[in-house]
Amino acid sequence: MNSVYYNIKSLAYGTKNILLRYINGTLLKPRWLWFEVTDRCNSRCLHCNIWSKKPKKDILAPVEIKKLLSEPLFNDIEWILNAGGEPALRDDLEEVILSQHEAVPKAKIMISTNGLLPERIVSVVKSAIINKINIYVGTSIEAIGKEHDSIRGIAGNFEKVDRLLREPVVIRDTYKNGFPSFGFTLIDRTLPHLEAVKLYLENWEWIS
Ligand code: SF4
Repeated sequence: MNSVYYNIKSLAYGTKNILLRYINGTLLKPRWLWFEVTDRCNSRCLHCNIWSKKPKKDILAPVEIKKLLSEPLFNDIEWILNAGGEPALRDDLEEVILSQHEAVPKAKIMISTNGLLPERIVSVVKSAIINKINIYVGTSIEAIGKEHDSIRGIAGNFEKVDRLLREPVVIRDTYKNGFPSFGFTLIDRTLPHLEAVKLYLENWEWIS
């Protein structure tokens, strides 16, 4: 019910913004921000070729991120989704997240990870919790077990991501303050696994 209310509210907000833009040119302000913290990736997914490209060197430093997100344009942001590439490959991910929080304190912050570095993600989540940051972890499950590994191109990926998403610090024990968010990449190769993934996700009691 909450999600229905939220979607209706979002639709109304979006429609209002479009009308305002056409009527008097009022600046639209984003509420969600997809932030590509790095284009480096340790995965080899069939459906993405980012890992085969040469990574950029001139990525934004935490101090620059804070300055950028402190602009009035971003002060309505509710969610910042840190993606990539693989965010866990940034050695300064803790500082990146802290800079986002300092710029937009009310925003919820998510790390979208492939789960290949679970210890690193747990460490970043712990650091965020210490800094009282509203932090969440999300991932994409394409199939179960070795099929997921095959689609994502790395042996052992499913076992690692499954372990990460059951970490007490990621789910905060009771889901009251944190819970994993799941995606599913729909391509020909993953479609036959959709039902198995749905069954797998039903293990999480908040999905019903
Ligand atoms: S983990 Fe994400 S960024 Fe990396 S190759 Fe796969 S889809 Fe692309």
